[in-house]
This record gives sequence, C-alpha cells and structure tokens, in this order.
Amino acid sequence: MVGTAYRKRFDHLCGMPYTARMDATETDTAMMRRALEQARAAAACGEVPVGAVVYRGDEVLASAYNLRETEADPTAHAEVLALREAAKKVGTWRLDGCRLAVTLEPCPMCAGALVNSRLEAVVFGAADPKMGCVTTLHHLLDTDAFNHRVGWVGGVLADECVAVLQAFFQARRDPGNRPPKPRPARP
Ligand SMILES: [Zn+2]
Repeated sequence: MVGTAYRKRFDHLCGMPYTARMDATETDTAMMRRALEQARAAAACGEVPVGAVVYRGDEVLASAYNLRETEADPTAHAEVLALREAAKKVGTWRLDGCRLAVTLEPCPMCAGALVNSRLEAVVFGAADPKMGCVTTLHHLLDTDAFNHRVGWVGGVLADECVAVLQAFFQARRDPGNRPPKPRPARP
C-alpha cells in the first residue's frame, strides 16, 4: 500500500545515536501548511504535488513547487527551486538559520542541496518509499561526516501531505481523466 509507506513513522529513530532528528515547532507546522498550498498548486498544473517553503523565524523567504514536467528539468524539485529563490532574496548561497518545510521526504539530490545551503533544518511531511534519503532509503542527514549538519523532523501534517499525493495519483489512474490516446491519422 502506497499510503502505508508514505505514512511510515519516524519514532523508531528517536534512540539513534547520530540522528539529527528534532521536534517540530508551531512555526514549522504553520510553514508546512504553506508548503501544502504549494503542493496543491503543483497538482493543478499536472505536476506531482510536492511543495516547499524556506523560512527564517516567522519570515517566509521563498515558496515553490515541483516543476519537473513544466520546465523539462530533472532538478526542478520544489526544494531546489525554493532554495534558489531564498538565496537570491538574501543575496548569498549560505542560508544560515533558515529552515525548509517540504511535503515529501527529500530525495538524494535535495538532501545534498540542503547540506550545501547550510540550512539549519528540514521539516517534511510524508516519507518517500521510492526516493526518500532522510529516513527511508538512506539517512543522509544523520552523519557527522559532512562539514555541515542539517537537523530534520518528519511526519509533520503527514496525513494531509499523503492525501494530496494520493488524490493526484488516483486521478491519474482514473480512465476518465486520461488524455485521449493518439490515433493514426486517416489517409
Ligand atoms: Zn528532490
């Protein structure tokens, strides 16, 4: 079941010696609500619904959603787009003291981008059984081998984040929603 996998719990990591796991603050949850709005906007234009918000304290620096199809760009994930916009806004690639809320667990590329931007922490909703590299397939942020450590918290508003993804894929499976198959033109 996709839902069960996306809903995977994170509590088993509490006792891990090197985990960078944290608890979510009220601000983190409020920012996840904004990330969910972004995810819904992505779904509305046919993109897999993943949304992200970069914030420092209560200030929103950037918000973005997945644009992989629209931009025909394999790196146009919500996190990367939000980090780029935030860095432009603050005028430096270093996002010290900033956090990023994202509706789906980051992939390896995005986990790397989080470390490279010197982010304080990442807050995510649903676990990603296919690409998740914070807790699911790998624990890329639970290492002290990099020169910067990003804290993380998963499962924030997870049910809502899962619901947005499930609704999107359900609609795509519905035959009535599929675009008509191209047919050979008549001579
Ligand atoms: Zn990614």
